[in-house]
Amino acid sequence: MSKKIKIGIIGAGSAGFFAGFQLGKQGGEDIEITMFEQGPEVSKRDCPIHDGLACLHCYPCRIMSGVGGAGTFSSGILNLHKNIGGDLEDLCSQAGLDVDKIINQIDQVFVDNGAPEKVFDPFSLGEDLEKLQYKCAINDIRFVPIKQRLLGSQNTPRVIQSMVKQLREKYKITIQSNTQVMDFDKKKTVYFAGKKTSENFDFLIVSPGRWGMDWLTQVCEKRRIKTFHEPLDIGVRVEVPALVMEPICSIQRDPKFHIITPTYSDFIRTFCSNHRGYVVKETYGKEQIAGVNGHQLSTDGKSENSNFAFLIRQSLTRPLEDTTKYGMSISLQTSILGGYKPLVQTLGDLRKGRRSRPALIRRNPVVPTLKNTTPGDISMAYPYRFVTDIIEGLDILDKIMPGVSNNSTLIYAPEFKRSAKRIDTNFDLESKSAPDIFFAGDGAGLSRGIIGAAVTGIIAANGILKKIGKKTNFIPNLN
Ligand SMILES: Cc1cc2nc3c(=O)[nH]c(=O)nc-3n(C[C@H](O)[C@H](O)[C@H](O)COP(=O)(O)OP(=O)(O)OC[C@H]3O[C@@H](n4cnc5c(N)ncnc54)[C@H](O)[C@@H]3O)c2cc1C
Repeated sequence: MSKKIKIGIIGAGSAGFFAGFQLGKQGGEDIEITMFEQGPEVSKRDCPIHDGLACLHCYPCRIMSGVGGAGTFSSGILNLHKNIGGDLEDLCSQAGLDVDKIINQIDQVFVDNGAPEKVFDPFSLGEDLEKLQYKCAINDIRFVPIKQRLLGSQNTPRVIQSMVKQLREKYKITIQSNTQVMDFDKKKTVYFAGKKTSENFDFLIVSPGRWGMDWLTQVCEKRRIKTFHEPLDIGVRVEVPALVMEPICSIQRDPKFHIITPTYSDFIRTFCSNHRGYVVKETYGKEQIAGVNGHQLSTDGKSENSNFAFLIRQSLTRPLEDTTKYGMSISLQTSILGGYKPLVQTLGDLRKGRRSRPALIRRNPVVPTLKNTTPGDISMAYPYRFVTDIIEGLDILDKIMPGVSNNSTLIYAPEFKRSAKRIDTNFDLESKSAPDIFFAGDGAGLSRGIIGAAVTGIIAANGILKKIGKKTNFIPNLN
């Protein structure tokens, strides 16, 4: 019997899973796949300390880390669009894939594993969509209508469990949970914490997600694997009465609006909307920065509010190209001002340049869903340019979402989406400086979402399949 080709996958998130599906299907008997995951199995990921929050109370954080990856305890919004969650259109066309087809196939894998059949499809709404598009067009707003499937936080772990069963039983992939990879080198040797010290592979796919992005940066620096900085995404979380977002969310569950702000010509966008959802605290960095995120407990959440991230995208050039360092310094400053709690302020106070007082927040018409905050003044921490962008952006958005720039609108900060450093790869996502090591997902700066990570996992898997002379043309039909 000839020796099997050994493939190691680091990280059992969306990217690792879909790399596994593709390799398992197309690689056949000739390959042996092992997936390493530092966190626990899906059933062991419940955390007694935090409830739906990403935090550092437990290590590794069970929201961000564990079999299934960061998406396992998310609202599970599958954005079925080629320009959302990464430059999927470019990545696919460079790799010779039909982006729409791949996205549909990934979606089908979720459905085959128990995702709800219902899709929120704005294109089926005809006149309502056209009216919204028209309003956006005349108000300088770009609206990106997207087909979305909402798994719902309560369903997502069940869907992930079903995928794990498929990977293990049908494709014979070994998934080693609670196994942290400490290091890997250009010879494809992987080093572990604990008793088992190292293992050699013929190919690696490295997909450690956001939880592993700092670790990956360190390994790349040590191993001289070339990376570069991605633009910064920083802004605030905006909370309004659910009724304000209702007309838009009835057309699009997670609406994506893109605006260019008048004063600075900066790009600002809505992201991660949680209609009838909750603002949550997210702790990150060794300084334990208290940031914010959004969460939707179920498909018919009970909250009377809705929230969304309002993010400015900023590239930096010399002398400071490190966008993460800059974003972290703003976040840290905000966190220090808030006594290591997120800052909350009414938009009215932000406009007037004065601190929101606890008494004002208590009698504010919009009641905050996140209680553990410090009422304060975001403009004491954020650059003037970003505060201007936020105010101008909300004023423009108000033309299509009346009420969003009311004085009582709540603004939470910091909301900082740290970008991973992007690995310098070829079109198959193989490192240009480390042959046979492929990268995928959010941790390698290649995607920003469940579907995007899955797409990059398939591209990386295809890169390996091409090298070993296997077919690459389709991902699994699980039925
Ligand atoms: C609260 C929350 C809500 C979200 N909601 C949505 C949503 O609704 N829709 C959407 O599209 N996206 C959402 N996202 C983002 C989405 O979860 C990610 O984009 C996606 O999971 C990225 O997939 P990935 O495979 O790149 O990484 P991940 O899913 O993060 O998986 C990477 C895995 O690698 C493991 N790992 C890291 N380092 C090591 C190491 N050294 N050794 C072994 N294992 C390691 C980690 O533990 C992790 O489990 C949400 C994220 C969060 C945190």
